[in-house]
Amino acid sequence: MDRRVMTRPVMLVTGGSRGIGAATCRLAAAAGYDVAVNYASNRDAADTVVSACREAGASAVAVQTLVESETDVIAMFDEVVGALGPIACLVNNAGIVRDQVRFDEMSVERWREMFEVNVIGSFICAREAVQRMSTRHGGAGGSIVNVSSAASYLGSPGEYIDYAASKAAIDTMTMGLGKEVAEEGIRVNAVRPGVVYTDIHGSGGEPGRVDRVAGGVPMRRGGQPEEVAQAILWLASDAASYITATTVNVSGGR
Ligand code: NAP
Repeated sequence: MDRRVMTRPVMLVTGGSRGIGAATCRLAAAAGYDVAVNYASNRDAADTVVSACREAGASAVAVQTLVESETDVIAMFDEVVGALGPIACLVNNAGIVRDQVRFDEMSVERWREMFEVNVIGSFICAREAVQRMSTRHGGAGGSIVNVSSAASYLGSPGEYIDYAASKAAIDTMTMGLGKEVAEEGIRVNAVRPGVVYTDIHGSGGEPGRVDRVAGGVPMRRGGQPEEVAQAILWLASDAASYITATTVNVSGGR
C-alpha cells in the first residue's frame, strides 16, 4: 500500500480554485491533507492553488468538472482516487449566484441553473462520496462538509430568493444525510457563511456588496475566506468527531 496515502488523508474541494474553496484547499494542505482542487473553467486559478498546496508539502491535483454533470462527477471521483488515494473528506463548496432581481422577475431558466449547480451538483458529489466512504459499502468512513449560506435563513429578499432557497435545500440534505449515514462512519455537516470577500458578489452584479451590507452584521464587517475555511477544516477533522447532521453559522453574528 502507498505509505503516503496512509499518512495524509485526501480532501476533495469543489470550487476550490477561488474564494472560500481556495482558502480551504490552502489550509487543508497546511493541516496535512492531500488536496484535489475542483474547478469549473478557471485553470490558472486552480493551478495557483495547486502550487500553493504543493509548497505546503501536499500532493495536489486540479480537476475541471462541472458539479452538475453526473457522468463528469463520477469520473472526477475516480480520477482523484487514482491520483491521490481514497477520499476522506468532501467539501461541497461550488456554488453560484446570479444577478440581484426581484422574485417576480426571475426566469425558469435561471431557477433551473441555480438548482442544478447549487443543489443537484452538491447532491451528486455527496452521493458519490457516500458510495465510496460508507462502511456499508466497504469504505473506511469519512467526512462531508457542505457550504450553505446565511441566505438560507435570511431569504435574500430583493437579491436572490432562488439562491437562498437552494441553500435551504443544502441545510436539509445535511441534516437528513448526516443522520442516514451516522452509523456508517460518515459525518455530514455544513457551514453557513454570511457575507465574505470573494468574487461571487461580482457574479451577482455587485462586486462591492460585502461593504454595502457589512453594517448590518453585528460584528460590523464582512468575513474573510480563511475564517470560513477554518470552520470547514474543523468540521472535517476528528476534532469534530461527535458532530454530525448540523450546521455552523460563520456570519459575524448575523
Ligand atoms: P467564488 O469566489 O465565486 O468561487 C466559486 C468557485 O466555484 C470557483 O472555484 C468556481 O470555479 C467554482 N464553480 C462555479 N460553478 C461551478 C460548477 N458548476 N462546477 C464546479 N465548480 C464551480 O465563490 P465563493 O464566494 O468562494 O463561494 C463558495 C461557496 O460559498 C458557494 O457555495 C457560495 O454559495 C457560498 N457562500 C459564499 C458567500 C460569500 O459571501 N462569498 C456567502 C455565503 C455562502 P472557477 O474558478 O473555475 O470559475
